[in-house]
Amino acid sequence: DPTLRPDRQPGEDSPDRALRPKILAEFIGQQEARANLAVFIESAKRRGDAMDHVLFHGPPGLGKTTLAQIMARELGVNFRMTSGPVLARAGDLAAILTNLEPRDVLFIDEIHRLNPAVEEVLYPALEDFELDLVIGEGPAARTVRIELQPFTLVGATTRLGLLTTPLRDRFGIPTRLQFYTVAELHEIVTRGARMLAISTEADGALEIARRARGTPRIAGRLLRRVVDFALVEGDGTLTRSIADSALTRLGVDHLGLDGADRRYLRLMAENYAGGPVGVETLSAALSESRDAIEEVIEPFLLQQGLIARTPRGRMLAHKGWAHLGLEAPRRPDQ
Ligand code: ADP
Repeated sequence: DPTLRPDRQPGEDSPDRALRPKILAEFIGQQEARANLAVFIESAKRRGDAMDHVLFHGPPGLGKTTLAQIMARELGVNFRMTSGPVLARAGDLAAILTNLEPRDVLFIDEIHRLNPAVEEVLYPALEDFELDLVIGEGPAARTVRIELQPFTLVGATTRLGLLTTPLRDRFGIPTRLQFYTVAELHEIVTRGARMLAISTEADGALEIARRARGTPRIAGRLLRRVVDFALVEGDGTLTRSIADSALTRLGVDHLGLDGADRRYLRLMAENYAGGPVGVETLSAALSESRDAIEEVIEPFLLQQGLIARTPRGRMLAHKGWAHLGLEAPRRPDQ
């Protein structure tokens, strides 16, 4: 399925749809983004206008879709959702745009993967709420202009650098989402456990939060697995020792790295003496797509200071060597 994101397994988010925060006040973390959005939402409501277009960027699973849904709810409008790869032809986008009601929120996930022909159609829609459609072919072709209802586009991307400049410039509210702190994830896991009605010790929830790679989606996934172990192998309580043994059995280490992360680090250490290594080389050696490496694996390793990016490629940082329990080789240039 070419539309499936590298981080997302089919149906993964469906069991915890109930866990999704529904209003801004329930949304934990991303304090700065949340505070700003609250102002822009309130202002749009007072003016009775569509809110300005918003671009969320940042690693997968940090709440871009969730925030877009919350915006629609807080604005009191419909939420329509599609994604860059799904909009193959200009007509696909036109069909969606012409069906929007005034001030609706249209969410386009993976907006960096829009077909250029579709992107062209989007520009006047964003700027003037107008659509220029070409009807017919060859000499008989003509352009018709269609007026649209004012709407708010919420774009989401894991790869800001892949967005064209004209598209980027049309978002009045660009917002970067950050990895979550352990304290924020602790709150998210505690809330999730409460909604799953599992009795939880604070230390147990904290252990999951520490090992969730700064990411609410991963926290949710780990919570569900730990609950399985607590029910089947424990006495039904989510304790620290159940969490620790379950996560270790799932291959999640104390920093939250999984098998793919460790394979990446070990390859750099064992085959390339710590780098620098190009991403294409890593992709071939790991049999992982370049997208998965750049969007899913590397952002957290970079944020944790385990690797560094240099103009010549990726390098294993001191902390990366230490995490593998290896000594960094001495280099003549250091
Ligand atoms: P993205 O669109 O950035 O990939 P999503 O919005 O789909 O991320 O969020 C992934 C999962 O994490 C969802 O199941 C959502 O319920 C949960 N989630 C995201 N942000 C939060 C948050 N701040 N608090 C609680 N749960 C969250």
